[in-house]
Amino acid sequence: MTRPTAHRQRPLLNRRLAEFGTTIFAEMSALAVSTGSINLGQGFPDTDGPEEIREAAVRALRDGRGNQYPPGPGVPELRAAVADHQRRYGLAYDPDTEVLVTAGATEAIAASLLALLEPGDEVIALEPYYDSYAACIAMAGGTRVPVTLRPHDGTYHLDLDELRTAVTPRTRLILLNTPHNPTGTVLTREELAAVAELAVERDLLVVCDEVYEHLVFDGEHIPLASFPGMRERTVTIGSAGKTFSFTGWKVGWITASPELVTTVRSAKQFLTYVSAGPFQYAVAEALRLPDAYFTGLRDDLRAKRDLLSGGLAEAGFEVYRPAGTYFVTTDIRPLGEDDGFAFCRALPERCGVVAIPNAVFYDHRDQGAPFVRFAFCKRIEVLKDAVTRLKTLSG
Ligand code: PMP
Ligand code: GLN
Repeated sequence: MTRPTAHRQRPLLNRRLAEFGTTIFAEMSALAVSTGSINLGQGFPDTDGPEEIREAAVRALRDGRGNQYPPGPGVPELRAAVADHQRRYGLAYDPDTEVLVTAGATEAIAASLLALLEPGDEVIALEPYYDSYAACIAMAGGTRVPVTLRPHDGTYHLDLDELRTAVTPRTRLILLNTPHNPTGTVLTREELAAVAELAVERDLLVVCDEVYEHLVFDGEHIPLASFPGMRERTVTIGSAGKTFSFTGWKVGWITASPELVTTVRSAKQFLTYVSAGPFQYAVAEALRLPDAYFTGLRDDLRAKRDLLSGGLAEAGFEVYRPAGTYFVTTDIRPLGEDDGFAFCRALPERCGVVAIPNAVFYDHRDQGAPFVRFAFCKRIEVLKDAVTRLKTLSG
């Protein structure tokens, strides 16, 4: 008989990560492939971004730009382009000291939390929250404190009193996300001003995930860093994946004060060191596309939002029409269902469509149970086909 080795005497996966399992996006995309379903689960476009930007990446590869380790903070061309991009919001950042290029927004989130949190620090996040938030808070030894966005009158709302009472002496930072995945909420000027006031009053840092900044259909995107007292305490996160429809390139960035950028870089340098060399040059060009590109992307997705939201309503779902992002959250109770997990696992078999159960984005799983998210960053004909299939559910 062989003696158990030391590593068999306890679970291989450490306690910090044990609760997370495989991400819902991997599970649901695999289900879409294995069942041949239309994938409205994981949020990625089914057409690539602008041809000239693809060509810019090819050119960079061929010209040998970025094929070896780029500089740790990112290539100067991209840092300058990111700084110039923030000027559209009236924010001036020094490309040399106040911009850091990351391996997608995912690494920006991870590096920010790993660098800024001490074990036991509390992090307030809007629930439902993007899944990597919980995992990264856990990896950093922090404690997540969800503040729940609540649905009524067809949209989700932030309760500012709840946010205020969630702050304790142990709160280190607020991890904000606007436009918000999965609910599509775009925080208003008044809400952001209240968050800013609270952060200043309680001396909190804010990590603000603004990856959907250009996907706003109703209202406007206002960076939190532009509010009084916020520039020096906010790490703002952006991503080329969402803005230019190249999710596989994994080019993201942060803008923040020199102290915050240096702090986040302390963690980032040991995660990936650097990434995506040639793509960084291409994204630098993308950020300088004319305004027509950004409004065109928004208008295209607005039409797709309307198509899918209308179709889902006709199919019997209660629809929370998103003001931003490329996701629409629905309530499945009008269809006589209340378990989003079971519903999403059965959906490919029932009608050949894949969606995401919002419960995975909740600590209070019961509160998220009847909600299901559909992505609309797909071709019109694909969305129409999906709607036809979804209509068979109530038939
Ligand atoms: N934040 C949010 C809110 C997201 O939805 C996503 C996923 N697309 C990310 C961050 C990660 O972005 P990236 O693909 O650039 O890592
Ligand atoms: N952000 C994408 C979504 O919410 C998924 C990205 C991922 O798979 N990590 O669908």
